[in-house]
Amino acid sequence: TPQGPASLRHPHPTQMLGRALLGRAAMTRGAAALRRLSTPPTRARAAAAAVAGGGGAAMTLSTVAAAEFSPDAPDTSAAPQKPIVIFVLGGPGAGKGTMCQRLVEDYGFVHLSAGDLLRAERNRGGEKADMINSYIKNGQIVPNEVTCGLIMAAMEQSVCKKFLIDGYPRNADNREGWEAMGGAEPAAVLYFDCPEDILTARIEERGRLAGDKRRADDNAEAMVKRLKVYKEETGPVISFYDARGKVMRINTGFERDQVYASVKRAV
Ligand code: UDP
Ligand code: MG
Repeated sequence: TPQGPASLRHPHPTQMLGRALLGRAAMTRGAAALRRLSTPPTRARAAAAAVAGGGGAAMTLSTVAAAEFSPDAPDTSAAPQKPIVIFVLGGPGAGKGTMCQRLVEDYGFVHLSAGDLLRAERNRGGEKADMINSYIKNGQIVPNEVTCGLIMAAMEQSVCKKFLIDGYPRNADNREGWEAMGGAEPAAVLYFDCPEDILTARIEERGRLAGDKRRADDNAEAMVKRLKVYKEETGPVISFYDARGKVMRINTGFERDQVYASVKRAV
């Protein structure tokens, strides 16, 4: 991706995503390592210097490649790290969980699935368990204070502050509540677009394969409701971020490796 100092001061959303993926601290370390080199570095030397100068989960060749374009980045390593958030949205079965896992492996993100957090809370069996379960079984959206509270608590507990937040915000109320509770403006929104017949087939298959571990909502009846809620309620959230130039749309109606290749291209 061509970048210059000016474009870094006013980054395009894709560049912001690149920076989010690489991590501010890692980029700063990379830039510092580059400043220490007296001769213009080759990429390989720069990478070696950067790794020697700090390492870290996100320290990769591309980190250094990106750092080359921001040699004057301020050193913020002492400042508390502000969370970097990427929302991952898409219909049920669109591949959010699968792709997030791969992004975690390759880029050191923390993956927070709103659905998983809600199911864990339900399984814990606290006072909200029955309430959460009835929303999930009907494909309805759990009140935001519950979901947002779980996500923010998980973020708080995480040392790494680069987050993929999967399956949230699911409607305008979620989004507004997130903002009202001080949630970070997302660096980008990954929108996994997939034809409905494929979504339905995948959820059917997932239900079949899960046997007695099948999710309460992985059945034909709940799936119809989930798709309806997704279109009617999550659609406007995607439009909202699209109008802000934040959305990166990926067609996820293909097999995993092919989809992940386009996810990587997008970031
Ligand atoms: N859910 C919710 N709010 C969220 C995320 C999930 O209410 O922010 C509930 C909702 O009932 C949804 C269910 O949890 O249908 C399953 O969500 P998940 O994201 O796991 O499903 P997916 O869309 O990934 O298949
Ligand atoms: Mg999911």
